[in-house]
Order: sequence, then C-alpha cells, then structure tokens
Amino acid sequence: MDCKQIRQIGLNRTNVSEKAADMIIVGAGLSGLMTAWRCLDIHSELTVIVIEASETIGGDHTWSFNKSDILEHLQDWITPFIAHQWSSYDVKFPKRKRKLEISYCTGNSDTLRRCVQPHIDSGRLIVKTDCRAADVQPYDVTLENGQKLSAKCVLDARGFKANADVILGYQKFVGHVIRTKKPHGVHRPIIMDATVEQLGGYRFVYCLPYSETEILIEDTYYTDGAELKSQEVDARIKDYIRDNLGVKDYEVSRREKGVLPITLAVDESFGTDVSHEKTAPVQLGMTGGYYHAVTGYSLPEAVKSANVVCDMIEKNKPEFGAAVLHEMAYHRVDHYHEEKFLRLLNRMLFRAAKPTERYKVLQRFYGLSEGLIERFYRNRLTKSDKLRILIGKPPVPVSKALKNFSERAFIGREKTQKDVT
Ligand SMILES: Cc1cc2nc3c(=O)[nH]c(=O)nc-3n(C[C@H](O)[C@H](O)[C@H](O)COP(=O)(O)OP(=O)(O)OC[C@H]3O[C@@H](n4cnc5c(N)ncnc54)[C@H](O)[C@@H]3O)c2cc1C
Repeated sequence: MDCKQIRQIGLNRTNVSEKAADMIIVGAGLSGLMTAWRCLDIHSELTVIVIEASETIGGDHTWSFNKSDILEHLQDWITPFIAHQWSSYDVKFPKRKRKLEISYCTGNSDTLRRCVQPHIDSGRLIVKTDCRAADVQPYDVTLENGQKLSAKCVLDARGFKANADVILGYQKFVGHVIRTKKPHGVHRPIIMDATVEQLGGYRFVYCLPYSETEILIEDTYYTDGAELKSQEVDARIKDYIRDNLGVKDYEVSRREKGVLPITLAVDESFGTDVSHEKTAPVQLGMTGGYYHAVTGYSLPEAVKSANVVCDMIEKNKPEFGAAVLHEMAYHRVDHYHEEKFLRLLNRMLFRAAKPTERYKVLQRFYGLSEGLIERFYRNRLTKSDKLRILIGKPPVPVSKALKNFSERAFIGREKTQKDVT
C-alpha cells in the first residue's frame, strides 16, 4: 500500500525532502507524538517525519496521570494536552476509604492531535499514515514498500514488545464510557474501588467522571497471565453501574480495553546494556520499557523522554544525531535503576501475596502519607519512603517476601523454569 501524507500545506520541499528531515519518528502513538510536539515547539527550525502504520495518528485513547508525575518545568507546557482535570480523587478498600488531594488529569487522542496540528500545518511535521516501517536503523528507515528515508537520527516508538530478559505480570482492563440520562452522582475520580469481588488477582474498578452525565468505568485486574475475557468483564461493568453507582438509564458511547505490562524483574545485563548505542535506533515509550513498573502507565515517561531528546538537540545542534543516540542509551539505563524498587514491590504483589489477598498490599499502601503516595507515582521515593513501605506488619507471608527479594535470584529462577518447560 502507498503511504498517505497528511496536510502538506506550507511544506517547503527544498528544505524538507521525504528523504531528509532532521528526525524520523516511527510510530505516531503517545510517545512518538509527544516527542515530535516537544521538539518542534522548542526548535523552530527543526523538521520531523512521523511514520504511522495505521490510518490515523494518535490512535483512540485516553491517558491519565497525576499532575505531579510530570516534571515541574513541563507542567505548563503539557496543559493543551489535558482534556479533564480534577483537584482530588478517592480510593476505596474493604477497610479503608480515603480522599487524596492530588491533582489528576486526562488527555486523549484528540487533544494530542491538536497539540501537533500547528506543526503539521506549518509543514515542519510531515505525517505518513498507512505506512509501515519494515526496518528501523539509527539513521534510516526502510518502509514496507521498499522506500528508504534517512535523517540525523531515528526514534523508534512502535509500542510494547515482549522480551525474554524482562519478567512480567499484567494489568488488564475493559472500560466503558457511558452517557447517563440523569446525573450519575460521581463528583471526582475513584482511582481504585477495590471493594468489589477479588477475582484471579488484585481487582478494582476505576471511575472517571468527565461530566455530570458522562463517566468512564474501567474494571481492572492485576494477574499473572495476559488473557483478557472481555465479555465477562463487560457483564461485570454493567453490574457495577447498576449496583454500585445506582444508574439504570444510560448508553455506552465508547469502549476500550488494554493489557499492560507490569515489570517484576529485568535482567541486569539487559537493563544496563549500552553496547547498541551506535547500532540501534533511539527507543521511546513502551518500546524502550519507559512505563511505570507498577501501573504500566507511560505518559509521564513519554514526556520525560521527549524532553531529553529536545535538550540534546539544543546542546548539540545542528548535528545532534549521535548525541541523542548516546544520551538516550544512558537514559534507558537510568530508568532501569530508578525502577528497581518498584519491581521489588511488584514481586511482593505478584509472587508473595496470594492472588485474592493482593488488595491488602494496596489497602495498606493507601494508609501512608499523601506526599509518599505522590512520590511513588512519580517514582521519586526517598530512602525513608522505601523503608516506610517495607517495614511494619507485612500484608504478605515473610518467607515468600524473602524468597522474592533478590531480583537477580528471581530472574535466574524464572529463566531456568522457562528453559525446563
Ligand atoms: C486502553 C489503554 C489505556 C491506557 N491508559 C493509560 C493511561 O491512562 N495513562 C498512561 O500513562 N498510560 C496508559 N496506557 C499505557 C500507555 O501509556 C499507552 O499504551 C501508550 O499509548 C503507549 O505509548 P507508545 O507511544 O509507547 O505506544 P503507542 O501509543 O501504542 O504507539 C505505537 C504506534 O506505533 C505504530 N506502529 C507500530 N508498528 C509500526 C510500524 N512497523 N511502522 C509504523 N508504525 C508502527 C502503532 O500503530 C501505534 O500508533 C494505556 C494503554 C492502553 C492500551
């Protein structure tokens, strides 16, 4: 199939040929477009080509995050992406109900597209849809139709890829956006309602009230396997709407589902490997493992990586390619180290706690201070935060906790088991 090029208005073909934009981004999802948006906003001369396999850029998604998850100096910049914002949210467990004064935001595919549209209109962002990359190298991309494009650097943002060096659990969910005839009565997000029956793992329902009569209800499961029986979950969402929200008259306006990776352990030799710095393209988003290990959410990391690429362009222009490749190779290693504690918590949740008792880990966690909870989601826990999380009466058996403590031993066991089976 021939690639489609969106809106070339203003494209100056003498400066921006198909084969020579400054930067090529493969994948026009969250991380690809965030990076294009940030770099084009800051660098007024930059030109970028985005290659997207599907018919449209930005997909059909909503992306939520705590405002404090975003680097402070980028919080104003991200504002046009935000479609809804709330000043607080609730969590509910069998033995704990709590309101947290943490600002919560949601952006979506429409707001993301709007953020990059001025750059498409100016001709500095060239978007090729229906266009699949077959081979992605640090400085060039070969499309499925055989065409080769080159640039100062290539960024790979093609989405999640499983890897034998990364041991996973899963967060899987189905969400329905409903429009109710009467106000649904939910005034702020419920990030976790874990008072529901626990099935197969940690289960909670997530509610985002977009308006008085529009709300997203998502039924979520933290489980060992990736299989999602979405029809069964559809039925449970209906039950929740009727029994917990007391809503009878409504229509479903949108459905979404997802199976997100939750990282239990990463082989150190893989996590710290920078040998591919000159031979592989820069990785962004889920492709590069840039997501919060416990939630599988990637928006804050997408913003962070976008900013690293942008800074490297600033410090090394005009020939910034090698510097972006170098810096991002080390950015990935930093991310590996920064997530070490989160991976430990995941091993406690998935391998030390019984599936139906996993909610107790979160129930206890949400009894800790608001500042600590905020730092947990930003992945900026202090040493004393970490101690605070680990000490006290453990909600998991001590013997199992100790068995899963060492990441290296865990990886060794998991790999041996895989070899045997
Ligand atoms: C339903 C759902 C809800 C989520 N909600 C949240 C949330 O609320 N908050 C949050 O932070 N995270 C959320 N996530 C997790 C994560 O943020 C998203 O998956 C996010 O979209 C990942 O961004 P990405 O850029 O890595 O990949 P994607 O957004 O998936 O983008 C990858 C793009 O690459 C394209 N592509 C793939 N192969 C090729 C190829 N060969 N050539 C060209 N193009 C290619 C794909 O078509 C796609 O457009 C959610 C995920 C899902 C599935």
